[in-house]
Amino acid sequence: MLLYVALGLLVHLVFFASIFDIYFTSPLVHGMTPRFTPLPPPAKRLMLFVADGLRADKLYELDEDGNSRAPFLRNVIMNEGSWGISHTHVPTESRPGHVAIIAGFYEDVSAVAKGWKENPVEFDSLLNETRYTWSWGSPDILAMFAKGDSGNHIFTDSYDASSEDFGAHDVTKLDTWVFDHVKEFFHAARNNQSLLSKLNGDRIVFFLHLLGIDTNGHAHRPTSREYSDNIKLVDKELKEIEATVKDFYGNDGKTAFVFTADHGMTDWGSHGAGHPLETCTPFIAWGAGIRLPQKVSAQNFDDSYLQEWKLENWKRQDINQADVAPLMAALIGVPFPLNSVGIIPVDMLNTSDLFKAESMFTNAVQILEQFKVKMTQKKEATLSFLFTPFKSLSDTKQANILRKARYYIKQKKYDEAVSLCRELIDLALRGLAYYHTYDRLFLASNVVLGFVGWISYASLLIIKSHCNLTRGVSTEAKNPSRLLPYTFVAIGLFVALLLLIQACPWTYYVYCLLPLPIWYAVLREIPVIQGFVTVLLTFRPWCFLGYLLLFILGVEVLVLSFFYRYMLTAGLVAFAAWPLITPLWTRAKRTSLSWILFCFLLAVFPLLPVVGREPDIFLVVGAGLLVLLLSLFAVTSVIKRSDSFINEELVLHLLQMLSIVLSVCVVYGTHKSLLEKQGLPLLNQIVSWTILASSFVTPLLSPPVLFDRLFSILLASMSTYLLLSTGCEALFPLVLSCLMFVWIHMEQETLQQSAVSCKQKVSTIQFACNTDMTQCRDLYLDDIRRAFFLVFFLVTAFFGTGNIASVNSFDPSSVYCFLTVFSPFKMGALIMWKILIPFVLVMCAFEAVQLTTQLSSKSLFLMVINISDIMALHFFFLIKDYGSWLDIGTSISHYVIVMSMTIFMVFLNCLAQMLTTKKLSLCGRPKSHVT
Ligand SMILES: [Zn+2]
Ligand SMILES: [Zn+2]
Repeated sequence: MLLYVALGLLVHLVFFASIFDIYFTSPLVHGMTPRFTPLPPPAKRLMLFVADGLRADKLYELDEDGNSRAPFLRNVIMNEGSWGISHTHVPTESRPGHVAIIAGFYEDVSAVAKGWKENPVEFDSLLNETRYTWSWGSPDILAMFAKGDSGNHIFTDSYDASSEDFGAHDVTKLDTWVFDHVKEFFHAARNNQSLLSKLNGDRIVFFLHLLGIDTNGHAHRPTSREYSDNIKLVDKELKEIEATVKDFYGNDGKTAFVFTADHGMTDWGSHGAGHPLETCTPFIAWGAGIRLPQKVSAQNFDDSYLQEWKLENWKRQDINQADVAPLMAALIGVPFPLNSVGIIPVDMLNTSDLFKAESMFTNAVQILEQFKVKMTQKKEATLSFLFTPFKSLSDTKQANILRKARYYIKQKKYDEAVSLCRELIDLALRGLAYYHTYDRLFLASNVVLGFVGWISYASLLIIKSHCNLTRGVSTEAKNPSRLLPYTFVAIGLFVALLLLIQACPWTYYVYCLLPLPIWYAVLREIPVIQGFVTVLLTFRPWCFLGYLLLFILGVEVLVLSFFYRYMLTAGLVAFAAWPLITPLWTRAKRTSLSWILFCFLLAVFPLLPVVGREPDIFLVVGAGLLVLLLSLFAVTSVIKRSDSFINEELVLHLLQMLSIVLSVCVVYGTHKSLLEKQGLPLLNQIVSWTILASSFVTPLLSPPVLFDRLFSILLASMSTYLLLSTGCEALFPLVLSCLMFVWIHMEQETLQQSAVSCKQKVSTIQFACNTDMTQCRDLYLDDIRRAFFLVFFLVTAFFGTGNIASVNSFDPSSVYCFLTVFSPFKMGALIMWKILIPFVLVMCAFEAVQLTTQLSSKSLFLMVINISDIMALHFFFLIKDYGSWLDIGTSISHYVIVMSMTIFMVFLNCLAQMLTTKKLSLCGRPKSHVT
């Protein structure tokens, strides 16, 4: 058994990790030479302002009174500079946003795996190419670009990480801190000769990172006064900074200014996904080398922003976020960041046409060079007869285009040169993508081969050890050929040799060789397969086909529910009809009725919106009261059952009820205190953490009698869940567990109606007898339904209250009872636990179902894994790396969720087993179970 678990876990981990090799590989290459425009640049220095988390619309739009929140920047748009929307890529997080702005490439998701804390790979940035950079802001962001600074030319000045307090009185201090330090810096520089001489050089960047708006957005949402006021403050300070700098340099007209944001923010104060509110950020540039506003009468855009913002007559020039990097590099005349894939927006430049054409030419050469390096790398790593080059951009074509562009520049046909270079860049980028995804098909087919092999193997295991199907078949079926192992070893050696010649990374060996042992294990079981087929042939074809169709339909509903949550509602409604079409309805009317009722109640949750809900603390309080009401019933039954009035069980129950009451009070108190801006009271914080810690212990103290233990688990997890809730999701685990309780009864009923004898009454079953299960029975078709129910309930546990967007987007408001200081790991862990609680409830209930129906947990578990593996295979094929960024992100998340669900299930199964069977004693003496 342990071997199977280990093997299964290994197989799943490999499949899970494979997408990081297939889809999320680092796009960076190394070994290019720096390229810069060989003409004097328009600016000597550049000031870059990044307002973290600033949405484009909140900056550009006018407020209710028709006034701009940012009068200074609006004046810049109308009289001094160029403007537009900078479109970011997913994930819309601070780190990838800043990398795109400053280093000019889109950080791939492989960086996620490395936590985004440190640079997963070395990369070149604009700041790296400057003579000197001074930067102010958050330590996380500044450290990213100062790392590896060899010549000591990037200077950082940042505040303490712990001052990023979400609940603190006024987070605009994060911004005023930066502005004050910048002013102070220029003031002090006047009397500091060495600093003064540094400041008077060229190729200088000042980088101001402004975290206040993001922090205010998380804490109060972007529609709040706080967010707007923060924008006003930044705008006012920008004006002063501009004046300070201009004054410092005696209005020499050699300073360029760039204002943008790393990402936007949703209305509910989160970012990370691909909603337009998150991906549209403002971009405004002015000063040296930047074109003055262009008046236009009509502009064509798909959106209606221009009318909303009353900016129809000022030419809007949208850019991609990575385009900012080459623009800034050209302005101050430093080499383009080596891995930049940005295309310089030449229309924004206020320079000679020659400069524009030369910059574009440099840009094309720089991107082409990445293409060449990537191609060489791939070519060297592939056997020459297997190598298929990118056909649209051959060596001769590159040379031709470059020669032609040079010729145009010489002939002063600058526009032609620019458009030709743009064409070349386009081809080079497509070629880069081609080589980046070169091995994808090969790796993907290997992974799928292994996956299908594993599913077949798991099915064979179930059939072999737990079905009477094969018993009737003669066991004399011929043994598999002796040649089989040799054949597999030979294939393995051949594959390994091929990989060795091509110097493939070690992970490739894993993907290519793993299918071999799996398929060997499958083919070794040929007699079982033959037996199974013989039995299948005895079935009536229509009956068999009907079951097969039902199974496929069920899996498809599950897959669709990832895209449309209302499919879960449809599924639950279908579940509600289940007792009606079976004899259950006549046998157990009350159980059936409650089953129908709770199915319908639970079916409501997937229809509720998941994001953008206003917090409703009264629903949380209501959920707490409902739990208390339920537990009162339980207490009365405990009192009735036991002989003495006061016993250990009762004390435990009362303690757990107390923790629910405390949770409700803490949630209410914290909510009120945060509304009044008094931060999180320390007492609330202590109580919250205590409840969380105790919730892991209290269920273990309760007697392992089936319903007592389950109820104790429900109370413990509910008290934590209430603390982590902000609205109607608080009711979800409650309704879910009610349905689970009924489910246990229903399964008991189905068992009584089938031939299996049932010895025990459900209320007396103890969890402990799980370990000595000897009366395992054979599997029936009904067990496939049970396995399917479990998978369905697990998916419901996840999508009942959330969807991909709510997982991707980071909404800190639900952990405010525990902490308000930004701490991604603690917050992430708490939110993770909140997502896991419904899973734990379902798994514990399933543990009970296994027990009451005397199922072999191993085969049932294998069936469950098989169903989710079939789903995972679906999502593996549905992974996209094209289309909108939202589609890409979502498709990846689906796969990740379904794979981690499978891997988690092993973990959850252990957790559920522990929660249900372990028993701690309060007073240290072994306690006799009450039965
Ligand atoms: Zn950010
Ligand atoms: Zn943020």
